Amino acid sequence: MKFVPKKPPLTGETLDSLTALLAARGEPAFRAKQILGWLYKRRARSWDAMTDLPKALRSWLDETFSLMPATLVLNRHSADVTDKLLLELEDGSLIETVIIRAPQEGVGLDRSRKTICISTQVGCAMACAFCASGLAGLKRDLSAGEIVAQLLQVCYCEDARTPRAKAELASFDNIVVMGMGEPLANYDALIEALTTLNADWGLGFGARRITISTSGLVPKMLKLAEEPLGFRLAVSLHGATDEVRSRIMPVNKAYPLAKLIPAVRAFSERHGRMVTLEFILIEDVNDSLEQAAKLRDIAGDVHAHVNLIPYNTVDGLPWRRPGVERQEAFAEVLRRADLSVTLRREKGHDIAAACGQLRLKTEKKRETGT
Ligand code: SF4
Repeated sequence: MKFVPKKPPLTGETLDSLTALLAARGEPAFRAKQILGWLYKRRARSWDAMTDLPKALRSWLDETFSLMPATLVLNRHSADVTDKLLLELEDGSLIETVIIRAPQEGVGLDRSRKTICISTQVGCAMACAFCASGLAGLKRDLSAGEIVAQLLQVCYCEDARTPRAKAELASFDNIVVMGMGEPLANYDALIEALTTLNADWGLGFGARRITISTSGLVPKMLKLAEEPLGFRLAVSLHGATDEVRSRIMPVNKAYPLAKLIPAVRAFSERHGRMVTLEFILIEDVNDSLEQAAKLRDIAGDVHAHVNLIPYNTVDGLPWRRPGVERQEAFAEVLRRADLSVTLRREKGHDIAAACGQLRLKTEKKRETGT
């Protein structure tokens, strides 16, 4: 499921592919790096801004590529310091990119921990029962250029916040591929985009600070383990038994825990680093102490970090978040076993931060014209 734009985005080119295209036009070898430098380091917003390129080359670039395949339509700031960017692609599709700033004591907001969450698909086919992104199914995969464009849009927003000193992407602590879509279902575009994100001619962001989150596509997890760039892995577990997991995640029927857990272990052993198990706490679904005990056993077995996330309510879905006491009791079972565990106080509740909600609300408004 691919969209073919009139002009491919420049953000979809690598140094090698652009060098080859330019060589075919008789351009010197240094031009590709110069052009990508304008795009990623100097953040030119128009071809004319690339002032040290010959005019004829700028015209050719304009005829050949789109400079930015995603337009910012909304930047929703939330009171708890989360920014949600709603971006429109060339076919009118909407995607979400989120900036999460975690304030630290005694430190101003600009020096707080910052994470960017990016999307890899328009909609999602995985149909997790609790998720807004899966509600309307999968519309299409994003191209590598569209995935990279989200990060450039984040840079533009940061540049606007700090106009006197261009904020480098490196000032972000982490990038998580946890937005709309199942990243590993769009594997080739994902790896291409993350390679650009990591490259010194691209955005220069360290692979070890990039986490890919999957609902549990076991064969692709094993493939990812063999990638030379050592990305981090997070697995959306959300159920510590097959019965509970299958109730809310259809992927569990194809890849039940007996297949998923060994894949987590294999990834962790291959990279010598902890995998994160994500666990959204949903009232009366997976928040019992029995589930906590099973999760403790799994996490201990594969030596994983556990991230507990109280559920964000989604319009039209019946699920609710458990009360704080119940959340704490669940977390305590894990803490008592000396596991590495975080109980997230989630950001962005007031801006429809649960995956895919802002997009759904905006699409609904467009349909009804309200
Ligand atoms: S939780 Fe992730 S994998 Fe599941 S439907 Fe939502 S976007 Fe897709």
